[in-house]
Amino acid sequence: RASPFEFRQYPIPILKSNTLGTMNALGIAKAHNALFFYTSTSEVYGNPPDEAVPTSEKYFGHVNPVGPRSCYDESKRAGEAFIKAYELQHNMRAKIVRIFNTSGPRIRYGPEFGRVIPNFIHQALNDLDITVFGDGSQTRSFTYVTDEIEGILKMVRKDEAIGEVINLGNDKEYTILELAKIIVELSDSNSEIVFKPLPIDDPERRCPDLTKAKNLLNWKPITPLREGLKKTIAWFRDIENE
Ligand code: UDP
Repeated sequence: RASPFEFRQYPIPILKSNTLGTMNALGIAKAHNALFFYTSTSEVYGNPPDEAVPTSEKYFGHVNPVGPRSCYDESKRAGEAFIKAYELQHNMRAKIVRIFNTSGPRIRYGPEFGRVIPNFIHQALNDLDITVFGDGSQTRSFTYVTDEIEGILKMVRKDEAIGEVINLGNDKEYTILELAKIIVELSDSNSEIVFKPLPIDDPERRCPDLTKAKNLLNWKPITPLREGLKKTIAWFRDIENE
């Protein structure tokens, strides 16, 4: 469960599935001499300072171990550490991909999930207020789902990626306020933008350094934000009219 809304409701299952779940899966992979592919997250970087953005795989992270996001951030970091331990002690063949904010049709949505893109699109299509947290100057970089899948498949198939950790995301950074305005425009909406309190430990910037993905996988995202959003908005229109 990658939604900050769910971190409040399900912190223990999140922590357990990301740590014990990963450990159990590694045990099964070891027993079958299987290659282990781990979908990690940009959350392992926490709240990087400006000089560490765009963020490369070499950055160790700036993470609060006792905050409202720690059940997710720290358990995904532990998952990576489990993999390293299995590589060191059992010569496990493993690959780690760190996924940045991704969206597209069929994204999980609803008030209990609360991720920014489905929230804003739902609000825009229903002429509800668009809830920007903080002043909206925090940034994210959004990958369209087909680009992300393409990158993942390239990594799965690449032998040279064994033992590696690679960022997969989009390196075009947008503020959340910019995102809100773009979604209002593309949805032809009459919604107003309103400002709500910023959640604790909400990262200020998120943008991947994609040099390694380009060099090792010959991959880069190709779908511009607006194009991806148009497809996602069209999908939302369909399901909300059902
Ligand atoms: N956000 C927002 N309004 C919303 C939901 C999210 O302004 O209704 C902001 C949130 O504070 C964060 C960014 O959008 O800065 C991305 O939030 P999301 O929950 O999608 O994921 P995160 O990248 O924080 O894991």
